[in-house]
Amino acid sequence: MWAQLAEVGRASSGGYLRFGFTEPDLVNRAWFVEQAKGRGLEVETDRNGNQWAWWGSGRTDAVVTGSHLDSVPHGGAFDGPLGVVSAFLAVDALREQGFMPGKPIGIVNFAEEEGSRFGVACLGSRLACGALDPEKALALMDERNVTLRQALLDAELDPDDIGPDPDRVNGISAFVEVHVEQGKALAHTEHSVALASAIWPHGRWQFDFAGEANHAGTTALVDRHDPMIAYASTVLAARQAAQAHGGVATFGKVHALPNATNAVAEQVTAWLDCRAPDEELLVSIVDEIRAQSNSASARHAVGLAVVEQSRTAIVEFDQALRDRLNGALGNIPVLPTGAGHDAGVLSAHVPTAMVFVRNPTGHSHSPLESASVADCLVGIDALVTVLKDLAG
Ligand SMILES: [Zn+2]
Repeated sequence: MWAQLAEVGRASSGGYLRFGFTEPDLVNRAWFVEQAKGRGLEVETDRNGNQWAWWGSGRTDAVVTGSHLDSVPHGGAFDGPLGVVSAFLAVDALREQGFMPGKPIGIVNFAEEEGSRFGVACLGSRLACGALDPEKALALMDERNVTLRQALLDAELDPDDIGPDPDRVNGISAFVEVHVEQGKALAHTEHSVALASAIWPHGRWQFDFAGEANHAGTTALVDRHDPMIAYASTVLAARQAAQAHGGVATFGKVHALPNATNAVAEQVTAWLDCRAPDEELLVSIVDEIRAQSNSASARHAVGLAVVEQSRTAIVEFDQALRDRLNGALGNIPVLPTGAGHDAGVLSAHVPTAMVFVRNPTGHSHSPLESASVADCLVGIDALVTVLKDLAG
């Protein structure tokens, strides 16, 4: 299964370009259908473009596992696909053991989890949970000015049907997502897997710096309205504020216009990703960055507009479910994470849990992300144990 996915959307960097509803994602989605059908599982696409494969009849009190098949730009092989592949292999193992589910078991592939194409992470699960307005979502645009509405039409889905899906969400009694670890907490332990405790609150903010295009050779420094300087000051302020408050803040994406070596930029647009252990710290960090950005922009006679694009509250994974998994899996480490997940979105409605598989490099959202076959198999075993316990 890993080999079948290996070349889909692979860039020369070795990383993956699998953005929601683009060609590589559609190839992966067809693969999901094939995997489900090959196992005699009933497969369907919900109104928000999420794919589901079902073992057992009925859709209530279901135990669901899975993850996502899309990637960040030049992402690794494991983030997402590991959870989906593990889910199918766990079903295979359960069948080999003669297990008969007492509750329906579902495998899900959530759409556009990374938000790489339309800027909103966990797009499919947010829509299903009513955490994103469908009209706003349909108007979202990718880099080529293709709206989500058009992308759904191109993927032969009905854009007018997207939105809250309470029956489906309420039909889930537990959701367990297997995911590659995105840090190095397990790297130096003897543990192959861990459970998640919480997801840090996080958000994305768009900063637009408006300056004045001019000649890089003939415009005196004093006459410039250079948005790049205000932007650069903001990047440094972000680092400082994050450090001061124990969080993380990142400008990883930036557009400059006209983007010419010999011109002072006219416009710089950059995106801040900020995460912190609690809400208060998150607000402090972002407020500090904004304040610094404002004064830097004023100093350089540059206009500044900041728009909050998304904001996600802290997620504490369900304690009872975590205790149950910890009991079944025999006391494994419990870790918080700074990364968002569909399990976090769902947790507002159903008990959710996450099983992390050790990543020796600690790299994530990068081709260097890794997991050994042995550890992945431990992750599948853990999922088998958990599904037996929850769906028995
Ligand atoms: Zn992921």
